[in-house]
Amino acid sequence: MLDHMRNIGIMAHIDAGKTTTTERILYYTGKIHRIGEIDDGQATMDFMQQEQERGITIQSAAITTDWKGYQINIIDTPGHVDFTAEVERSLRVLDGAVAVICAVDGVQPQTETVWKQADEFKVPRLCFINKMDRIGADFFYSIKDVHEKFGANCVALQIPIGQGADFEGVIDLLRMKEIRWDAESEGEKFTECDVDASRKAEADEWRAKMVDAIASVDDELGELYLEGKDISVEQLKAAIRKGTIARTLVPCIMGSSRHNQGVQPLIDAVVDYLPAPDEVPPAEGLHIKRDVQEKVEVPCKESGMPLGLVFKIQYDREMGSLCFVRMYSGKFTAGTQIYNVAKKKRERINRILRVNANHMEQMESVSAGDIAVFVGFKLAQTGDTLGSEGMPILLESMKFPEPVISVAIEPETLSDRDKMNETLAILSREDPTFTSHEDAETGQMIISGMGELHLDVLVTRMKDDFGVKANVGAPQVTYREAVTAPADASASWSKVLAGKENAAGLTVHVEPRAQGTGNSFAITAKQGDIPDEIWEAIESGMKNSLESGIQYGYPCTDTSVTVTKVEYNELTGTPFAFEACAAAAFDEVTKKASPQLLEPVMNVDISCPKEFVGDAMSQVTQRGGMISGEDSKASGEIIHAQAPMEKMFGFSTNLRSVTQGRASFSMEFSHFQVKQGGLNKAW
Ligand code: GDP
Ligand code: MG
Repeated sequence: MLDHMRNIGIMAHIDAGKTTTTERILYYTGKIHRIGEIDDGQATMDFMQQEQERGITIQSAAITTDWKGYQINIIDTPGHVDFTAEVERSLRVLDGAVAVICAVDGVQPQTETVWKQADEFKVPRLCFINKMDRIGADFFYSIKDVHEKFGANCVALQIPIGQGADFEGVIDLLRMKEIRWDAESEGEKFTECDVDASRKAEADEWRAKMVDAIASVDDELGELYLEGKDISVEQLKAAIRKGTIARTLVPCIMGSSRHNQGVQPLIDAVVDYLPAPDEVPPAEGLHIKRDVQEKVEVPCKESGMPLGLVFKIQYDREMGSLCFVRMYSGKFTAGTQIYNVAKKKRERINRILRVNANHMEQMESVSAGDIAVFVGFKLAQTGDTLGSEGMPILLESMKFPEPVISVAIEPETLSDRDKMNETLAILSREDPTFTSHEDAETGQMIISGMGELHLDVLVTRMKDDFGVKANVGAPQVTYREAVTAPADASASWSKVLAGKENAAGLTVHVEPRAQGTGNSFAITAKQGDIPDEIWEAIESGMKNSLESGIQYGYPCTDTSVTVTKVEYNELTGTPFAFEACAAAAFDEVTKKASPQLLEPVMNVDISCPKEFVGDAMSQVTQRGGMISGEDSKASGEIIHAQAPMEKMFGFSTNLRSVTQGRASFSMEFSHFQVKQGGLNKAW
């Protein structure tokens, strides 16, 4: 069964045609009976109303479909840069990907971001060059662009018959056949014929290039090739599959999803070349024992210990939280309890569902390699590992980028307040890059996220989907605090409460960590006779302190905290005392460690027609940004820049006005830098 399963994602720059392509795949695999048009906001994948309105896919959902006896789980990845966290979490659970690239624009900024993320997660992939019907479409330019930008070993498995307005179909270089799709039947019917004499020489040339490229990464095929032997289509396919999974080559095919051309060969390619769940390296996890954590590999087998990862939570008004789980090993059954390894709590799976394009299907159980939705969880959060108490294995937790902007929100009435708090909790279980906290000074609720659009989407959901009435303040930058020098300090704490003495003493060391590595916490003073709850109290006290900052109340980053000495007395040492003592020791030690305020710096990519490049650039430099490079594309110029987040509010309005609406931009967190000058806190 596993060899007949594929977990794939479709990744693309916004507007390259990811949603259209997904829709067509679902149509041809027979699950939906009408082609949903993105342009009328009917797309099946974009099933949240708000996404349809905005025309972008915000939440990634997994949908299952069948093709020639294969089960394909499609994990949708969002195309907007404000949501890179969503892209990463999808990449984490898929085994292979289709990169959809626009035949006119080639590699665009978001393709670059996602491609690099896919490299990081070692995801085998193939390229689908879409929009071959558009004027200026150029298949060969597009794959050359992918090759040059990423050093990918792109191998064309097809060549086009005409391009742009003349695009008729493709030549399949493996079988040396011309393929054309019939517009009347929405591309469902297609015809094949031998390669026309006028195109034979070109096709032969590209076939030779293809075989050459495959032979150079596959020893077996290389030998046959050198000996001048005949190589069968099956042998070629097997070698392409091996090379794709080993990531030594990237097969490239093409089509026009909107005009229903080239989609069936794409689905065939998914099945033929992308890996089954047990053909990728086994999942890695940490086996948690009392004091030591041991790295283990978890092979994808139904007979193994149950192990799954919550990669997405979507709230449904009727069913509550839908928990999307990727299974790595073993099996979970509906109606049983599982152990949430991250939360150290048990929860019951009420129901297990499979999401098909147009209906939910009830399942008894779900096994290694597969993806399903669990209903009934109240605690689970995106990124949690589900397993068993007997063998607690924690899968590597997901990396979530740090929120860089915040807004204050105020409920209109007292009854809205409770509803708002409940809603915020649900939303941050779904999306850990979205956080909320009460400002210690003003008591206002502050919500933080990845960008203006990200917060805008969340606030709209809170108002529309959950009916919370609230006033929203102006967005502010979320700064960070960090120590810049090492320091040591001791603190003791004691208080008589209800006639009993509570006392604790701690010595702590802090030092700066490398940029972008986040915080770390360790205890080097472990002594056997101190109960677990004391260690837990120290850890919780320190983690809360790291969250609530040093001088300004912004979360700390890149700061290492080590507890080097614990003074514990059996009679007076309580968890309460140690938690308070940890906070006191943290205050003491960070004061001595030259704390500094950091501000987020963003990568900004602007695409605009040539004549507006000067104006667009001056918009960036006026805001204290630095231009780091420029790229020329068939469709215009791309300017790469970096600028402090603080200066980027309202940028889209300015950019639009100086370029007559012809420029677009994307912005993504790059790093934190020391903030010069003072700080005016707006709330
Ligand atoms: P996504 O942002 O990557 O999901 O892109 P969409 O699938 O929403 O497509 C963006 C726009 O491009 C829509 O207006 C589509 O109709 C259009 N589009 C998608 N595929 C093609 C294609 O093959 N040819 C042409 N000409 N337009 C396409
Ligand atoms: Mg889309």
